[in-house]
Amino acid sequence: MGRIIFLGSGGARVVVFKQIRASGGIWLNLNNKNLLIDPGPGSLVRIVSSKHNLNPTSINAVLLSHKHLDHSGDVNNIIEAITIGGTEKRGILFAPYDALEGDDPVVYRYLRDYLEKIVILKEKEVYNLNGVSFTCPIRHQHRTETYGFLFKTDKIKIGYIADTKFFNGLIDAYKESEFLILNVVREKPSELDHLSLEDVRVLIKEIKPKVCFLTHFGMTIIRKKPWVVAEELNREFANLNVKVIAANDGMKYDF
Ligand SMILES: [Zn+2]
Ligand SMILES: [Zn+2]
Repeated sequence: MGRIIFLGSGGARVVVFKQIRASGGIWLNLNNKNLLIDPGPGSLVRIVSSKHNLNPTSINAVLLSHKHLDHSGDVNNIIEAITIGGTEKRGILFAPYDALEGDDPVVYRYLRDYLEKIVILKEKEVYNLNGVSFTCPIRHQHRTETYGFLFKTDKIKIGYIADTKFFNGLIDAYKESEFLILNVVREKPSELDHLSLEDVRVLIKEIKPKVCFLTHFGMTIIRKKPWVVAEELNREFANLNVKVIAANDGMKYDF
């Protein structure tokens, strides 16, 4: 049916730019389609050196949740890799307007024609990739235009909540997720627009996915040890039948 590979599990400035954890994004294979989500710095290297035998020319679509470098740093390298330096036109890029046309776009213009298509993401629009569909159920609250994704096949529904401040609208927007991926940067809530462990608790309790993956860890979570954090949550939510899994670099999960 499919699999997910975490090419990196680090998030935010300190962890990513010291490469305390990798930042390659997420490789999602569903119904024989390969989607690469948020290829941060090092994504291409993580793909070609992955023990899971990943080939960049097999990527059907690249999805950017937003333009911050920890999510988009390798997008240009990935376009070159998918199209073998522009010699074979293929691949679709989905990205917010802000990442493509704003003041400071992150995708080089000279590479754009290499791709089969570029799609500007819009809230609630449904995108179909022949066997997999996805939508951006709600615009996130983050410093720059940001969306998460809800993927659907005839068999499963997977939610990806990218960087955002917590707000109640997230619960309804991702309610259908049987598998839920959360970017959890911080241990404690703060003024910064990222999810904290408190927010994760609320999302798990309200959405009740079968499996919840935690990833995109900032320093405060790394210090607490992500696998310990996941164990604590598993104990706390034992009655909900939710399995919480902390991602690590290169981790694979088969659906
Ligand atoms: Zn981030
Ligand atoms: Zn961000």
